[in-house]
Amino acid sequence: MGEENKKTKFIYVSQPWIAGREKEYVLDAVSNGWISSEGKYVKEFEEKFASFVGRKYGISVNNGTNALILAVRALDLPEGSEVIIPSFMIISCALAVIYNNLVPVFVDSSLETWNMKPDEIERKITEKTKAIIMVHTYGYPCEVDEILKIAQKYNLFVIEDFAEAIGSEYKGRKCGSFGNISCTSFYSNKLITTGEGGMCLTDDPELAQKMKNLRNLSFIPEKRFLHYELGFNFRLSNLLSAVGLAQLELIEQRISRKLKMAQIYYDTLGELEEKKIIKLPPRSNRDHKNTFWMYGIVMAIKIPAKYIMDKLKEFGIETRPFFFPLHLQPAFRKFSWFREQKLPNAEYLGEYGFYIPSGLDLEENDIIHVAKTVKNLILEHANI
Ligand SMILES: *Cc1c(COP(=O)(O)O)cnc(C)c1O
Repeated sequence: MGEENKKTKFIYVSQPWIAGREKEYVLDAVSNGWISSEGKYVKEFEEKFASFVGRKYGISVNNGTNALILAVRALDLPEGSEVIIPSFMIISCALAVIYNNLVPVFVDSSLETWNMKPDEIERKITEKTKAIIMVHTYGYPCEVDEILKIAQKYNLFVIEDFAEAIGSEYKGRKCGSFGNISCTSFYSNKLITTGEGGMCLTDDPELAQKMKNLRNLSFIPEKRFLHYELGFNFRLSNLLSAVGLAQLELIEQRISRKLKMAQIYYDTLGELEEKKIIKLPPRSNRDHKNTFWMYGIVMAIKIPAKYIMDKLKEFGIETRPFFFPLHLQPAFRKFSWFREQKLPNAEYLGEYGFYIPSGLDLEENDIIHVAKTVKNLILEHANI
């Protein structure tokens, strides 16, 4: 690649796409003074998002991590209970367990789908296990039926974290519609964003009410400032809900932009996958519809991701490493439940995986440019 290629504009890994009525709704909220979590946009956003996903109740919160904390809290599990989560995931899932005085139990993921392996889940179940947090990694739905079946067999709760799979589908049903409670994030890199924000969804009226109370300091309607429970202030503001509502109105366009992006990447990089140099994200199939939250690449030859990522940066292309496995996190070593263990796939993905620019703002020629640069660079270093 010549020097001239290095001078093209810098392409970020993900930037928000603000193309609808965001400004109008926010201005409306500001002009009318409704800027706290009271205000019509909060309810409207909750209802419309829940209806998009196919859930009865939506309880908005101020970020995705708190959505998980709230969901776990609402299950009222006995102290020290075990909750199964994938090791190859963001730390939020583990924090939600730990902050509720429960014990996270990490399972390995598949090298094909990058999602938690159902047979590994079953092997980790003890009499202390009370729940599973199932997560759809980078947009590809996990093995929902198999996980639900295990949960039923052992009488476990299921929390679904679909922050990376808004709009994705499993057997024709939207991700976010499975398990007792589902949680999402509306952080700025998610398919729809409020900048910072999140939501818990459920079909269970009691859980919905419980989460609403807990989100709002567990105030009770009968007597103000009397509390029977330890709550949180996790409320989402009307201003941010106004942004979310406008984002939701264009959700179909957002999904098609992601699918288009993925198609271009597959078309250009597919050849490297055929040659077994890299592994690309799992493609959509009959039971799984991927919306490609982030387009990942895993090196199948032993060149660490970091090496390729540093080279891409020189060409003005920003990337991100895959998750660092949770079972190796230094922050967890001080806990009595911490165990040295090997989860080889999570470790492999953490070292050899990275994702390339996947933001909704990318234009077709940016995507083509990224795809070609990535392809040439990897070919150059693959020595074949
Ligand atoms: C983004 C994300 C979160 C955390 O959401 P925040 O809003 O950043 O707190 C949790 N789980 C998954 C799977 C995510 O991708």
